[in-house]
Parts: sequence; structure tokens; C-alpha cells
Amino acid sequence: MTTVTDPTPAILDRYCRELKLPGLRTGYAAIARDATSQGQSYVAFLAACLSQEIVARRQHRLNARLSQARFPASKTLDSFDFRALPQLPKAEVLALAEGSFIPQRENVICLGQPGTGKTHVAIGIGIGAIQAGYRVRFIPAVILAQELLQAQQEYRLPRYLKSWQKIDLVILDELGYLGLGPGGPLLFQFCAERYERGSLLITTNLDFARWGEVFADATLTAALLDRLTHHAHILLFQGESYRFKESRQRHGRITTGPEATA
Ligand code: ADP
Ligand code: MG
Repeated sequence: MTTVTDPTPAILDRYCRELKLPGLRTGYAAIARDATSQGQSYVAFLAACLSQEIVARRQHRLNARLSQARFPASKTLDSFDFRALPQLPKAEVLALAEGSFIPQRENVICLGQPGTGKTHVAIGIGIGAIQAGYRVRFIPAVILAQELLQAQQEYRLPRYLKSWQKIDLVILDELGYLGLGPGGPLLFQFCAERYERGSLLITTNLDFARWGEVFADATLTAALLDRLTHHAHILLFQGESYRFKESRQRHGRITTGPEATA
């Protein structure tokens, strides 16, 4: 083992690569400059170096988990106008975005008409959960039903189901907008298996009374609803379509008073 007597940038660069310290590699020069100008101790300098690496790793993990989640768009709760849905409990939504329902294996159901912001809120909660350290995956219900069906046809359903176990929060979007066909019972199985093992967030335009049409079996659906709603936060999105309201405000008014933006 050679000792470093002259830590030239090239050597440091190589060491950082070998030890997989990308944050330190890009940050050490600035940290060293600061340490020199502030007359820091060696120990303080070392602490600053390690802290830089920790920050870089956290950021890297956050970015990786955000891309693994496959959100269809980047929507945050900061950009959500809660005034458009006065009945939606803002404090509860913000608390859900901290992710504490996830270790309790609780579920969230966002129920309401199209365009009322269910997917937006679901993504916002999902991003919050990732920031809190959880693994999240967003998937439209029709796509999941198709993938389950394909896995079954290829005799790899158990393996496919297992691949979901590492996900802490599954966001199942748009349950009920489209018929699921033979994938319906498989989606039922997916949801039933997650019960008390992992959290589910479902967005849907269908009242619970109509879920039987999705899963094509009234008795099984009743059993599933019983389980899902047992540990569920049910958020009702009652209002008109946000897009529709926005476009009406844009085209239907010449002056913009305070109520136009409210
Ligand atoms: P849903 O899933 O209920 O059909 P979306 O979440 O897709 O509705 O919302 C439709 C569009 O309107 C999205 O671009 C969303 O960001 C926006 N939107 C809906 N409600 C709000 C709101 N209250 N504040 C800000 N944007 C909203
Ligand atoms: Mg939606």
C-alpha cells in the first residue's frame, strides 16, 4: 500500500472514484479552500468532507427513487390550490405527505370526479413519502392489470407479485375509468395481497358501490373494500374540474377581480 505524500488532484480523483465518493470528488477542492481561508482544524475539514459526501448521497438516492416511482408529471402539494376544494382536509393531506401512514400499512383512497386534482394530490403525497425515505411506485390501474395478466400468461405471476413487495407505497391511479377485463380479478388479488403488508393509494372516480364492476365479482369486492377501508384515509374530491374552471376563468371574464384567482 502506498502512502500519499503529494495528494495531487489526479490522485485524489482516482481514490474518490475507487472508494465511490462522488460527492467528495467534486466538492473537496472548495472545502479545502474554505478550510484554509478559515484556518479550520484537520478534524473540522474531515467532518466537512464527510458531510459533503452524505449530502451528495442523499440527493442521489432521492433522484433515483423519484425516477423509480415513474410519476407521469412532477406535481407538488405546494402548487396545489386547496381553495378550489374547500371540503378537502388540507391538514390531513399535508400530514399524509409526511408518510407516517406508511409504516402503519394504512391506505389512502382519493375519490371524486375527473379533473378535481386526485392524481395531482397522489403524486404530491408520493413525492413527500420519497422525501421521507420510502420507496414509491406510481402505476395506472389499467397498466398494472395488463402487466399482471401478462405475468400470469407467462407463468411468472408469483415472481412479478414479489417484485412489488419492496415498494412501500403503491399509487394505483384511475381505478375504474376503463374496464379491466380479465385483469380485474388479478388486480383484486394484488390489492388483497397488499393488505396489512404495504400501503396503497388509489385514485378513482367510482363510488364504492360500483367497484364490483371493476373487479367483476360483487362478493370479492365487498371483502376487498372491507379490508381496504379498514385502514384507510378517504379523501373526497368534491368540486368541478379544475381545468374546466381555469379555462372558464380565462375565457369567460375580461376583468380579473380577487374572486377570479380565489
Ligand atoms: P384527476 O386525477 O382528479 O382527474 P388531475 O390531478 O389530473 O385530476 O388534475 C387535472 C389537472 O388540473 C392537472 O394538471 C392538475 O395539476 C390540475 N389541478 C387540479 N386541481 C388542482 C388544484 N386544486 N390546484 C392546482 N392544480 C390543480
Ligand atoms: Mg387522475
